[in-house]
Amino acid sequence: MKFEIIAVLSAYLAVANAHDGPHAFRGRHANIARQVTASASAASSATSSAPSAASSGATPASAASVSAPTVPAAVTTPDSVTISLPTGPSGIPPLISLTSGMPSGSTLPLSQTFAAGAEPSYSGAPPLPSAFMFVQGQWPTMDVVAPTNSSQVQQWMQELEGVDIPDLQPTQDGDCATDPAFALDGQNRGWWTCGGWTRDTDIVQCPDKLTWGVSFDDGPSPYTQTLLNFLDEKELKATFFVVGSRVIERPQVLVEEYMQGHEISVHTWSHHALTSLTNEQIVAELGWTREAIKTVLGVTPTTMRPPFGDIDDRVRAISLAMGLTPIIWTSTPSGIKFDTNDWRVAGGQFTGPESFQSFEEILGNATTLNNGFIVLEHDLFEITVDMAIGYTLNAAMTHEPPFTLEPIGVCNKIPTTDMYQETTTNKTYLAARQKALSNVNSTTSTGSSSGSGSGSGGVNKSGAMQSFAMVSLPVLSAVAAAGFALLI
Ligand SMILES: [Zn+2]
Repeated sequence: MKFEIIAVLSAYLAVANAHDGPHAFRGRHANIARQVTASASAASSATSSAPSAASSGATPASAASVSAPTVPAAVTTPDSVTISLPTGPSGIPPLISLTSGMPSGSTLPLSQTFAAGAEPSYSGAPPLPSAFMFVQGQWPTMDVVAPTNSSQVQQWMQELEGVDIPDLQPTQDGDCATDPAFALDGQNRGWWTCGGWTRDTDIVQCPDKLTWGVSFDDGPSPYTQTLLNFLDEKELKATFFVVGSRVIERPQVLVEEYMQGHEISVHTWSHHALTSLTNEQIVAELGWTREAIKTVLGVTPTTMRPPFGDIDDRVRAISLAMGLTPIIWTSTPSGIKFDTNDWRVAGGQFTGPESFQSFEEILGNATTLNNGFIVLEHDLFEITVDMAIGYTLNAAMTHEPPFTLEPIGVCNKIPTTDMYQETTTNKTYLAARQKALSNVNSTTSTGSSSGSGSGSGGVNKSGAMQSFAMVSLPVLSAVAAAGFALLI
């Protein structure tokens, strides 16, 4: 199991790092991160002596031990800007200790098991099927792009018949830097990655101001149970974007997510950048994840989230043709993407305090929006779960003005029944989907960075510049400047 987790982590980070651009960016950032770490460590040692749960061997973050953050500590950056850092609740390591390579704590068992035939809480839901039994050869290899020559994939390909799938050449790896010509054409391609371009068919926010559509990506992981216990204690519900390879690995965790009233959505089989795949591969990635969820839960999601947010009009049309509405995370009108960067902490590129600052700025920007918002967070790693239950969720729950925390479907007024194909009571569901399909090419809806992109001829360049320009902390601005320099 241990080797398996490490292998998955390595694969994940290998893909994630591919999106970070040239090495110069990482080198620059590493230096900045070290400066903050050194400075913050000094402050931390003076203000907090609480050992981490991991290093003390204690069980991390049992539901009973979690409480609201205590008095914030102050940390001074190399630029003498004071950052307010919460110390975190009991059982959660201090923010400064949340770094790549930190000792791993123990994991929690399922809080309960659900027998076949158990009834989900929402109206009309089918009873749970028999407990999932993994059978070798019935599923694609985990964490590898699902093959396209199976009878299942050929059958799913029929769902694309009659649908106008844009003839867009796949990208190299979903990264703007490796496909500069495509990046410049980001608006026409509807490419979110390069310029933040969205279409009317995407869900990118919650409609009501000060409402956070809470979600976690990439699980179920060994640490998801810790998050589930916390959410249960706080009576919070979220949307889980699950990876098919993880679903067949930990089916009972998925069952607990679903039976506790959280929403389940598709996040592909192997977590590759979808714009880099062929039509058949995209169908395989979405189809096998759909299949895994259906096999475990008895229902098929009607929504999906592309890994890295990497979607264009081709991926969009295929997803919609397969009955999956894309959900991304929010960008402000000036192009600031609501990414906590928690995954970069796990990858050693961000420190815990830096990621928390990303989230604090998200909350600050969220209060300026006329609508609610969606934030990118993960339940794949112990660090990202610690970030969520120790810091980000508490910060949002204690924020003034107060935020309402809801799953993304709920905040968008989508009945739970309509989140799954088997239970939708929306008789016009298919008609609406067909209408969406016919619009996906013709809509002129611009990306969230449209203002910054106009007149420049370079959507991704100006979008990136704008998104970084409004980051107020010197340390993050410096990181952004390095990133921007490479983008142009
Ligand atoms: Zn992901």
